[in-house]
Amino acid sequence: MTSSVSSEQSMPLEMAAVETSANLAELTRADFPLLGQTACLGQPLIYMDHAATSQKPRQVLDALQHYYDHDNANVHRGAHQLSVRATEDFERARQKVADFIAASSAREIVFTRNASEAINLVARTWGDANLHEGDEVLLTLMEHHSNIVPWQMLAKRTGCVLRFVDLTDCGELDLNDLRHKLSERTRLISLAHLSNVLGCFNPISEVTAEAHRFGALVLLDACQSLPHMPVDVSRLGCDFLVGSSHKLCGPTGMGFLWAREELLDAMPPFLGGGEMIQDVYLDHSSWADLPYKFEAGTPAIGEAIGMGVALDYLNQVGLDRIHAWEQQLTLQLFDRLQAIDGLTILGPTPQQEPDRAVLAAFTVDGLHPNDVGALLDSAGICIRSGHHCTQPLHRHYGIPGSARASLSFTNTPEEVDRFAEELVATIGFLREHS
Ligand SMILES: *Cc1c(COP(=O)(O)O)cnc(C)c1O
Repeated sequence: MTSSVSSEQSMPLEMAAVETSANLAELTRADFPLLGQTACLGQPLIYMDHAATSQKPRQVLDALQHYYDHDNANVHRGAHQLSVRATEDFERARQKVADFIAASSAREIVFTRNASEAINLVARTWGDANLHEGDEVLLTLMEHHSNIVPWQMLAKRTGCVLRFVDLTDCGELDLNDLRHKLSERTRLISLAHLSNVLGCFNPISEVTAEAHRFGALVLLDACQSLPHMPVDVSRLGCDFLVGSSHKLCGPTGMGFLWAREELLDAMPPFLGGGEMIQDVYLDHSSWADLPYKFEAGTPAIGEAIGMGVALDYLNQVGLDRIHAWEQQLTLQLFDRLQAIDGLTILGPTPQQEPDRAVLAAFTVDGLHPNDVGALLDSAGICIRSGHHCTQPLHRHYGIPGSARASLSFTNTPEEVDRFAEELVATIGFLREHS
């Protein structure tokens, strides 16, 4: 398969440059075994639920198999050759994460089970140690439940207050409202880089500049942005960043927290147990160095290695090229959806916001999103319907849920057309039978 991206073989030179015309679906599709399957009634399966979880290229699946076939052992014990190899590969994966977000050191990367756990880690350690009654945490109306609930729990424990930044009329972050709500009481702004519903990229450099003027820190939930564009923590100026392997073509059960070293150093540990200690006595213990202080117990070793290979894969395809190709798909997707009568898309249109992610959450007048999703599923098309872990956002719009098609670089223009055609047929059928 000469056209597919292999981890052994590096990209041909002419493909290393950013060409906006590159059809990445053509180039990468054969790497994803799952995407080649046939759905019910012999139709090709169309996967458009990448914002919920990504599919995995065979390079990642092979890495998992290889780890268990050849190297499986517990890490950081150094007792034998298997443990040495497992530890080297595990720590190499940590360095790959650091490089992926341009962190200055792998010591700043803490492995967690997922992004939710990474946010809970910050709330339970930094939050408990630093926040007091009357301090404020600023969130936004577009946050995922994972970036709301841990802060509600923190507010209960410490008496800190949560405030929510509003949205503009077209469904983007309202920077004026953010400036209005920011004050000396604000200790942290925690927000998504890319909304998993509105599809807008938030202006993080501006947010961090505003926050730092008041001495507030910024936590960036980069779950959705990391698969779609290059992310550089030093350029964005954030203080914490969380990401999730399963949204990045990697295995489930793996996520990470990045924070500046001096912040991590000053934070108390999260969970207690093996691996996170230096010395244990009957009545007290001392903590291991960074990042191990935050990693109690045996980690998800194979999954970390798999995530590292997933990041290699995304780097080889090229985040700039992914972004450019997905912009083309976005324009096509919106062109087709905007032509459908009675369909309303949440968030900005590409006309309002040219740099918009390749996802569309929408409602159709008079129809329930679950019915739309179920009928499309019977045509072999996987989209999501519901609140997408953003109930407050849907409540803001006065709707219980929406249907959402979220694409990736593996989607083809033909799939976008077929999705739009099936959607028109679905809407017609439901209207006729309601
Ligand atoms: C998926 C997602 C999360 C949660 O990530 P997990 O790794 O599943 O815990 C948080 N925020 C956003 C924006 C997401 O898309």
